[in-house]
Amino acid sequence: MIDKLFPTTIIGSYPKPKWLNRVKDLYNENKVSKKVLKEAEDDASRLILNEHQRAGIDILNDGEMRREEMTEYFAEMIPGYEFHGPVRVWGNNYFNKPSVVEELKDPKPMLVDEFKFMKQIVGEESYIKIPITSPYTIAEWSFNEVYSREELIYRLSEIINRELKLLEDAGAKCVQIDEPALSTRPEDVEIIEEAMRIVTDGVNIDKIIMHACYGDFSTIYPEILEFDVDQFSLEFANNDYESLEIFSEYEFTKEIGYGCIDVHNQEIETVNQIKKDIKKGIEVFKPEKMWINPDCGVKLLPRDVAYKKLVNMTQATQELRKEMN
Ligand SMILES: [Zn+2]
Repeated sequence: MIDKLFPTTIIGSYPKPKWLNRVKDLYNENKVSKKVLKEAEDDASRLILNEHQRAGIDILNDGEMRREEMTEYFAEMIPGYEFHGPVRVWGNNYFNKPSVVEELKDPKPMLVDEFKFMKQIVGEESYIKIPITSPYTIAEWSFNEVYSREELIYRLSEIINRELKLLEDAGAKCVQIDEPALSTRPEDVEIIEEAMRIVTDGVNIDKIIMHACYGDFSTIYPEILEFDVDQFSLEFANNDYESLEIFSEYEFTKEIGYGCIDVHNQEIETVNQIKKDIKKGIEVFKPEKMWINPDCGVKLLPRDVAYKKLVNMTQATQELRKEMN
């Protein structure tokens, strides 16, 4: 889809402008209408797409300006889910855990409007990547009174499959299935593989990516090479590139989204450092199969830090491209 060495992208989330959070609060307090909220989200989407273009990112996304949380966002749109208020997940963190209370029906298109809006902002020549939470993760974060565990995962897989087909019809070229806990549940790798088979069945989108983060990839490699995806985007900066060793044991037959920006550390990697870190990757992966991205979503960083990290990342890839051509 994109014909250059080391295409750059972001994983998903990006810090929201403070005024957007304020409007969201006001909306939750019933002080402004849905229309006002949508206007603010549209404005933020334009602003952040522009910020990513200025940073030199090739495959764009608006940093998930419309999303607060990765399960709730989708469960809210799927008929058959209900919300019974927040549950405590750890410490003093609460999560509005959705419950499956009846058989899930097909939702209205969930991401098509969002895609079309972004596409219209960036223009025909530019690429958009659309992150979607995996059926496995949505199921794992749901109360479920209706299905067996696997039945729910596979029913959600059908729903996501239908969404991908709608996105394909709307012109989408690149989607990313977010599977954060992939490596922490190695006993479920076969279930996730089957879920991905359903998700991608009959879909002809150019690039289907799976993003996983935190964990020990040795528990799931090389099994994940069987997954029906084109690319895995994985973190390397956060584990100091130690996990590279795991992938040198067997040939990595997919593309890699090479995470080389630490999203948990405010220190801004220099251009030279990032170039060195990408070169470590070239020893394991084929350069023509590498995309360059941060380890994960950057929403927990201050916005100016997130921006500078992206600028240095794209600068590093530009220099490497020149040096290697
Ligand atoms: Zn992640």
